[in-house]
Amino acid sequence: MLIPVRCFSCGTVVGDKFEEFERQIKENPEKDPKIILDELNLRKVCCRRMIISQVNLIDTVLPYNQ
Ligand SMILES: [Zn+2]
Repeated sequence: MLIPVRCFSCGTVVGDKFEEFERQIKENPEKDPKIILDELNLRKVCCRRMIISQVNLIDTVLPYNQ
């Protein structure tokens, strides 16, 4: 759905990094996601899983809200 603002485990702000991660994945599909996460300064596994495990379902779910 929507990315949580902070990491559940350590509290680091991750909400602002998901859009950048997605944009870089789209621009360079062959680039290793590991490198993008390193560049975004997400070095802990708890913060990395917040970004990697995110599935953007908001556009799928939104029509059922009415
Ligand atoms: Zn964390």
